[in-house]
Amino acid sequence: MDWMNMTEQQISETLSSFGAPSFRTKQVMEWLKRGVRPADMSNLPKSLREQMASIPFGGASIFQKYVSQRDGTIKYLFSLEDGNIVEGVLMRYSYGNTVCLSTQIGCKMGCKFCASTLEGCIRNLTPGEMLSFLAEIERDEPSEDDKKRTVTNIVLMGSGEPLDNYDNVVTFLKRVTSPDGPHISPRNISVSTCGIVPKIYQFIDDAPHVTLSISLHAHNDETRSALMPINKVYSIDKLIEAAHTYADRTGRRVVFEYALIGETNDSHKDALLLAKKLKGIMCHVNLIPLNPVKERGLKGVSREHAYEFCNWLNNEHISATVRREMGTDIDGACGQLRRRVLNDLSR
Ligand code: SAH
Repeated sequence: MDWMNMTEQQISETLSSFGAPSFRTKQVMEWLKRGVRPADMSNLPKSLREQMASIPFGGASIFQKYVSQRDGTIKYLFSLEDGNIVEGVLMRYSYGNTVCLSTQIGCKMGCKFCASTLEGCIRNLTPGEMLSFLAEIERDEPSEDDKKRTVTNIVLMGSGEPLDNYDNVVTFLKRVTSPDGPHISPRNISVSTCGIVPKIYQFIDDAPHVTLSISLHAHNDETRSALMPINKVYSIDKLIEAAHTYADRTGRRVVFEYALIGETNDSHKDALLLAKKLKGIMCHVNLIPLNPVKERGLKGVSREHAYEFCNWLNNEHISATVRREMGTDIDGACGQLRRRVLNDLSR
């Protein structure tokens, strides 16, 4: 066990085994909530801090940082205590700041367009590590207004498949939304999945107030299975049925992510068939012009074409928008920065 992943009771028991009085628990929890390591917990006696340092901290540190000159987006590489590194991003919008966090180191889902999955999944991230990414970003980029937080929104869209690390992600969501923790509104949190259908049903009960984002990327099994191996396990109709149930049971609009891939899923006919599949579901389609990954050999589309595809959907009364491009000068698609840096380090 490490500090960032202990429950209040475990913290209290550990501190009492060090001979510390019970009021220390609250102090330590306050620090941990902000991702502060024992050595820097300035209101604790030095001897206690030294005792605490005998247990791993379990959090992340900022390893590298890249700031976009175009829009202020910041891409972080975090290092973890076992030496792994993983990405996170801070994006600035007019309504607030969004962080994009990873849930696994690598990914085992094997999507054909994605850089994060090229070397498989190394391990799951712990709830404490995910909380620590948030705390590190807030410490690195404090809000100019003291009373406000830097981060208002979270998307679990970095590397990894959140529903393949189900328990840790649900624990993270509970802690990050808790009034005793960062207290981010679940309505401001999106969880993106490639479509692990049974876990989507479980998620209805475990996290009903977040936004579920489903990476669809195709309107039929043939194309989807070619792009996303998970579709061979759970067909597109089963996935859409789960999304429909999620929307009906939670009252929350489901977001479908659709990466536009040249000559693969981007024709007028594709738009019409996609609209037909989604009819009657409370949903929104987020169109993403594919960010071509060097190793993958799939084509992107122009932004003009993405807007055209968007109009085709809108004409069929499907709510859709083209995702804004952020930080295009500091990296490419998700997982690319980590790969580039790992390659550079191993040279
Ligand atoms: N595993 C989760 C979340 C991580 S990926 C999921 O599949 O949803 C976050 C989003 O980025 C997903 O919609 C994914 O399909 C998309 N994505 C991955 N690589 C991409 C690329 N090269 N271009 C555009 N979108 C990409």
